[in-house]
Amino acid sequence: MAGPKIDWSKFSIVPDYDSQDWWEFTKEGKLMARFCDDCNHAWWPPSSIGCSSCGNFETTTWKESKGSGTVHSFIVVTQPILGAFVEAVPYVAAIIELDDLQHGNGTPVMLQGIVDESEEQVGIGSRLDMYWETVSDDGKQNPRWKLSSNQPSDIWLWRDTASEG
Ligand SMILES: [Zn+2]
Repeated sequence: MAGPKIDWSKFSIVPDYDSQDWWEFTKEGKLMARFCDDCNHAWWPPSSIGCSSCGNFETTTWKESKGSGTVHSFIVVTQPILGAFVEAVPYVAAIIELDDLQHGNGTPVMLQGIVDESEEQVGIGSRLDMYWETVSDDGKQNPRWKLSSNQPSDIWLWRDTASEG
């Protein structure tokens, strides 16, 4: 793996009631988002079983993404808040618009992810592909992201703006 090195041995991933199904899906290589059956609002990570849009706690559905998307925005993390990230910084943490999942109102479902490439290469509009990184002995996986081979020509790159003076 070429991207930022996260030392998963420093983590103990203990899924809770809200996230246990999501982690089980990762063992099968499935990137899932939870959808509200009443209003089709989606959310990620699966932090609550209740819909934050309409308040439905009764019925939700998991939908799978194939794992491709576009950078909506990003930051560069330079301080490793946890020891596991000491060797990872600096790295790009992006908000990613998924290609294949939309909320009921048509807006793309977005999630956050760490991108392999540096801020010199990643911009708003960059196309990304997901891959899995195994993070526990029992096969839990974490989604990681890298630049797709095909990129659009109108990506907003930080270095362009910075050089305009
Ligand atoms: Zn809802």
